[in-house]
This record gives sequence, structure tokens and C-alpha cells, in this order.
Amino acid sequence: MAGPSAAPAGGHSFSAAAGPLPPEVVDEVAQACRSWRGGGPVLSLPFTSEAFRELQHETQARLRRLLGIPPGYQVLFMQGGASAQFALVPLNLLGPDDAAAHMDTGHWSRRAAAEAARHARVVSLRHDALDPSAPSPDTAPVAYLHLTSNETADGWQWPRLPASPWPLVVDMSSDLLTREIDWTDLGLLYASAQKALGVPGLTLVVVRDELLGRARPSVPGVMNYTALAAADSRLNTPPVFAIFVAHAMLGWIERQGGVPAMAHTAARRSEAVYQALDASGGFYRPGVDPAWRSRINPCFGLADPALTPRFLEQARAAGLFDLQGHPDLGGLRVSLYNGTPEAAVSALMSFLRAFQRNHG
Ligand SMILES: *Cc1c(COP(=O)(O)O)cnc(C)c1O
Repeated sequence: MAGPSAAPAGGHSFSAAAGPLPPEVVDEVAQACRSWRGGGPVLSLPFTSEAFRELQHETQARLRRLLGIPPGYQVLFMQGGASAQFALVPLNLLGPDDAAAHMDTGHWSRRAAAEAARHARVVSLRHDALDPSAPSPDTAPVAYLHLTSNETADGWQWPRLPASPWPLVVDMSSDLLTREIDWTDLGLLYASAQKALGVPGLTLVVVRDELLGRARPSVPGVMNYTALAAADSRLNTPPVFAIFVAHAMLGWIERQGGVPAMAHTAARRSEAVYQALDASGGFYRPGVDPAWRSRINPCFGLADPALTPRFLEQARAAGLFDLQGHPDLGGLRVSLYNGTPEAAVSALMSFLRAFQRNHG
């Protein structure tokens, strides 16, 4: 069931598809749309200008600081979203005889594997049965292990990245900047910007130098990691405005205390939500085993699923929008991104209690 196009003023959106921006970030962006750093509007900032190069380098430096990116990795700004990376990763990283291992944990990892399978041999693994020591004899050499750190649609998350005999390739679109990253086995990380990093249009790719130089000759230049790294992500016009918003969002995260502060908030909020669900005596039914519950997108159902439309309708009347689950999975879902205000979370908690009181 589709909600309105956006939560109205005074309402709160819990949509999984886009993270809210904090008011300070919105103010900074609104101001810069008229005039930025004493000059013209950022909306028409030429990508060829010195000012843009500075903006881009500051954005990359903030990402390196916040994510703890070690030397030996390139920070690339691309377009096409995480979905384009589903294909671009195999096209850029796999030799003609290589296979890609894909961890199958839910909706987005399956989408990634299906797209990769159009371009390469894919070996599917389950998270509870990773046996890297024994790939079957007819399996081509595995070049990397792909995983989705947070399954946005299923409410399922890796509590920590698994040890891997192959370089990890991780889709962090929905939990980037909410958890510390262990770079030991990490070969490549990618994320769309609209959930954790600002607005649509920008895709972040962080790739280890050793993985460059392997792209198939047919890969378009603007989608070739090696060519992009050589051109400092300015092979053609980058998404200037989306990079500006990411710069502002990263500044806000730094002022809050960086990723440790974001991780703490994510843990506190999601624990509060799960506690409320678990304490409901079965009225609310969280769908995921506690060890694998997402700190970003808790998913749940009602003991009586026939009440779901009423839950959504009354939530909207209380100013709480976009709580429906992913269209393929149904049920209910709360998305708690870095920009989600405290007021939204406490209003949701009150609503959960009130709805159970009236219908339990
Ligand atoms: C939203 C999402 C995607 C898709 O992102 P697009 O920008 O629409 O391509 C991919 N993976 C995960 C984990 C997501 O949450």
C-alpha cells in the first residue's frame, strides 16, 4: 500500500527508500542553492572549477576520516546507484575464468546475484554455511565474496563482516556510516547515497588498489573503476549537487561525534524498538532471529495480519508515515537512518503502545 508522496510537515517518514536529512543539513543546502561560499549557487557549480575540486576533495577526506579508510584504497564517486554496481563489480573485477561468490541473505543480495549472473559465474553461499575451504571441483576460481551488510527489505544485518578467504565486496547502501568497518578483508565497498549519505544521484565506491586494472575491455570508460580513479572521478560530469549534499551530511555526522556516535544511536534506537515488540506478548512479531536483527530496518508483523491496513492508517493519522514493509515481503518496517529525528522514534514508541492497547 503506497503512502503519500512524502510525509507532510510535522509528520515523520520511516521510509526505507530515502533517509531524512537533519534540519541543519537542509538549511545549509537551502542557503547554498542561492549562494555558496560567497559565490554563485551550488546548483550550477561547474565540475571543472577549482571550487568543485575542493568540495570533492573535502568530501573524500571526510569519508576517509569517518570510515577509517586505510591508505591503498580509492574513493570513487559514480552514478547509477547500487543497482548499477551489481553489474559493474563483476565487469570490473572478474577475469574471464573467474567466478563470484555471493552470500544469499535476502532481497538485495539476491538482486545483486541475479544481475551478476548475467555477466559471470556465480556461486551462491548461505551465511550459516560458509565453507570456503571446499568449493566444488568444477567451480572456477573465486575472485571475491559479495555480501549485503544490511538487508534493507528483510530487516536482517551482519553483526560483523565475516572472515573470508577471498576479498569481500560489500553493498553498504543502508548501513553505511552507522557501524565501524573492519577493512582487513575488504576489497570493495559500495553504497547509494540516498539512505545514509544524502540524496539520490551519487554512488560511493571504495576500492582497494590491487583490484584495479582488471576491467573487461568492453566496460564503458565512465563505469571503469581504473579509468575513474585515474581521472579522480571527473572523467565526465559528476553528480555535483549530490556530492554537495553528501559533504554537508558528512560534516553533520562529524559534529555529532562520527561513526561511533551514529553506531551508538543505531543500537539504542533499534534495541528500544525490538524491546517494545518483544514485550508485546506476541501482539507484534519481529520476523528475524535476534542474532541477525537489523539495527537500521526492524521488520515485524502483527499477530493478526488483517489489522495491518488499520495499523498503517492509524499511524498516518498520528503523523507516522511509510511503515509498510517492502512490497515483495509485506508486513511492517521501521527505517531508522542517521537523519531520523529522536522525536520520530519516541512518537513511534508511543504509537506502538497505544495501538496494542486499543486492539490487543
Ligand atoms: C536501496 C538499496 C539498493 C538499491 O539502490 P539503488 O540506488 O536504487 O540502486 C541496493 N542495495 C541495498 C542494500 C539497498 O538498501
